[in-house]
Amino acid sequence: MAEKQKLGSQKRFGPRYGRKLRMKVAAIEQEQRKLHKCPYCKYEKVKRVALGIWGCSKCKAKFSGRAYTVGGKK
Ligand SMILES: [Zn+2]
Repeated sequence: MAEKQKLGSQKRFGPRYGRKLRMKVAAIEQEQRKLHKCPYCKYEKVKRVALGIWGCSKCKAKFSGRAYTVGGKK
């Protein structure tokens, strides 16, 4: 491997689809997997439950957001 890849989620693609696209996918997947800030209790405890659905493990709120990120900087 010529280049060290630090973003693990894109490994499943192998050498396919091109480097640029894989980097994009990896960035989005990283965004969707990390903990997000809850708009209700302001804790960073929100995880993606399903596509566009987010759940807070702190205040148990379930709400809809964008597909890969909670979205909205309020
Ligand atoms: Zn919350």
